[in-house]
Amino acid sequence: MTECRSVENFVERHRKLFILTGAGCSTSSGIPDYRDAEGKWKRRQPVTYQAFMGEEATRRRYWARSLIGWRRICCARPNGAHRALAKLEAMGRSEILLTQNVDRLHQAAGSAKVIDLHGRLDLVRCMGCERRTSRDELQDELGGLNASWLGLDALDAPDGDADLENGDFSSFAVPPCRACGGVLKPDVVFFGENVPRDRVDAALRRLDEADAMLIVGSSLMVYSGFRFVEMAARAGKPAAAVNLGRTRADGLIALKVEQACEAALAFLL
Ligand SMILES: [Zn+2]
Repeated sequence: MTECRSVENFVERHRKLFILTGAGCSTSSGIPDYRDAEGKWKRRQPVTYQAFMGEEATRRRYWARSLIGWRRICCARPNGAHRALAKLEAMGRSEILLTQNVDRLHQAAGSAKVIDLHGRLDLVRCMGCERRTSRDELQDELGGLNASWLGLDALDAPDGDADLENGDFSSFAVPPCRACGGVLKPDVVFFGENVPRDRVDAALRRLDEADAMLIVGSSLMVYSGFRFVEMAARAGKPAAAVNLGRTRADGLIALKVEQACEAALAFLL
């Protein structure tokens, strides 16, 4: 209880918060996270940008697994942590919410000042002509082309992926872009891919305006998120983190609360 009290105190003391969220925010919405309490991978590493763009076999496997995994992502609903952070924004206390999650659950909970650092899984991007289309539309198309795969069940993995083991994916059909025939890719930043510069810059401008940083449900193991904590530290802005387990920024933050996100933020609701 004392710990929870201190997140409350931290939020009370700092007027404009730069909020950074990660997978721990969405686990109780049924979306699994990548890493254990030590910050290590829980399962095989996700597909890289290089493998996805370079190998057709990788794309077949990705989309086959995604056909199964998307069903869980698209029916996920926001939890108390998402609602608590939306409330902070409604109270005028959020300078920006920068999320590493691609599930859009912050927006579903009512947050509007959000930057999706790693993109969004509900859109598909054509790597040839940059056209964006909806993931639901592609789901219908994938299902139509690969009806025999729809009955499969698998352990869901993060980011709408699914652990389909030992499959022969060579028969799985992946449609090209209808406009230009290009390669379709989920509109998210893959491992091995850079976050678009303008997105980083937009977030940094918000960090300039913030008094402090609140990290919720992230181990910050990925540099794209960690660099914002480094910047905050350099600018002398205090940071607090709610996370089950260690974070890469443990040496940089003023306050660390090892609790589930929903429980730690319950005082806002
Ligand atoms: Zn295209």
